[in-house]
Amino acid sequence: MAVLTRPKLLVLGGGFAGLEAAFYLRWRLGERADITLVSDRDRFLFKPGAVYVPFGLDPDTLTIPLERPTHRRGIGFVRARAQQIDPAAGVVVTDGGRLPYDQLIVATGATIRPEEIPGLAEHAETIWTPEAMVSLRGAFARLLNDARAGTRRRVVFLVPPNNKCAGPLYELVFMLDTWLHRHGGRAAVDIAWSTYESSFMQVFGPRLHDVVVGEFARRGVSGHPKYVVDRVGPGEVWYTNGQTLPYDLLVSFPPYAAATAFPGLPQDERGFLQTDIVTREVIGHANVYAAGDGSDFPVKQAFLALLQADAVAERIAAQVLGERPAMAFDPVSLCLMEEFDTATFAQVPLRLTGRAERPVEVRRDREAEYRVGSSPAWRLGKKVMGAYLPWRFRHGSPFHAGLPWKGLELGLKVMSRLLAA
Ligand SMILES: Cc1cc2nc3c(=O)[nH]c(=O)nc-3n(C[C@H](O)[C@H](O)[C@H](O)COP(=O)(O)OP(=O)(O)OC[C@H]3O[C@@H](n4cnc5c(N)ncnc54)[C@H](O)[C@@H]3O)c2cc1C
Repeated sequence: MAVLTRPKLLVLGGGFAGLEAAFYLRWRLGERADITLVSDRDRFLFKPGAVYVPFGLDPDTLTIPLERPTHRRGIGFVRARAQQIDPAAGVVVTDGGRLPYDQLIVATGATIRPEEIPGLAEHAETIWTPEAMVSLRGAFARLLNDARAGTRRRVVFLVPPNNKCAGPLYELVFMLDTWLHRHGGRAAVDIAWSTYESSFMQVFGPRLHDVVVGEFARRGVSGHPKYVVDRVGPGEVWYTNGQTLPYDLLVSFPPYAAATAFPGLPQDERGFLQTDIVTREVIGHANVYAAGDGSDFPVKQAFLALLQADAVAERIAAQVLGERPAMAFDPVSLCLMEEFDTATFAQVPLRLTGRAERPVEVRRDREAEYRVGSSPAWRLGKKVMGAYLPWRFRHGSPFHAGLPWKGLELGLKVMSRLLAA
């Protein structure tokens, strides 16, 4: 195996995958490589915490400035937007100049496209950015006021096709129910859930579906799977099965696409880079990798983005050191769903199916690792994870490395033995 001498490692994107990759590379390689991080923003955003914003959390508490942790680890930080990748020349063109690389990690994430569904952008509150979550806070406050005044209100939650991460919207429907109860507004609000999925939380398999069915029954939420949205009008959603749902407040998590499409590289129709699932190598480009939401893995999740980034960084580090990589990408998803009065944990070993309508399924050969459980104690797990990751990134350390991760992993194992089956 050829050993690279002080290679230039370039990471695009200052999110979960980009920071994890850059910090892991430094942790593993010491000074044996030049590492540069390019991001169009000067702060990291801890998106999973954004579900608390509609209920009062200040969104500024969810960001971490990138300058300090990168400086601390001797990682060059370039604030610029990557515009083009020239793989033949080994150069990334940004709006601030050209950056050469020996190995490139593309971790530029995803964006949402509400405009794909007629009427959605005009009529729905959407979830994605902190600004959208602040707008949703206003909508929830108005809903509560009306409900307390005795005015009946209908809320519809909507997951359209091509949304790749519906988990946060499931959190919000449960959180809203608990919050309305606690503030004396639940009795006057009808809540309906509609999704294109053929089962609830489809990507996480049948046991999460059963949890959601139970929670909807307990909370009086009417759930509608296999409802594929056709269009949205003022006060009404039309579905392709001929059904309609009326609403006073519509909350949706729109379809996804790559945040930045790089035309020089193989990609699908939404700009997601096509990769070898295990190595994360972009197909046909031995020194270009993709990790996180911007790659073609069909489930877009921070936890999976971190695992992908670790696999890429380990592979590059092993190449620099002339070793065999210690691990590759193994898509075992971890999900902690906040509900305010309880929380649900799921650990799900996934495999690709190759079928567009159900691109992943739970691995039957690893059933023992498929663990699901609900308990108020899992709220603590969610809080610990929400504190641990920002703490690691603030110090320029990777999430999945060293003694702190071993400790957290052990804690999760013990909790999942006690509180999940
Ligand atoms: C409300 C909400 C709640 C969520 N909750 C959870 C959860 O509980 N658990 C979970 O696992 N996942 C959760 N997710 C999903 C998770 O946030 C994403 O999967 C994760 O952010 C993906 O990480 P990433 O690094 O691929 O992309 P991102 O975190 O989006 O980072 C991409 C970065 O690249 C930058 N960038 C984009 N284009 C360019 C360019 N051309 N040049 C330079 N920089 C660029 C962006 O500004 C950004 O900093 C949630 C998402 C949302 C919206």
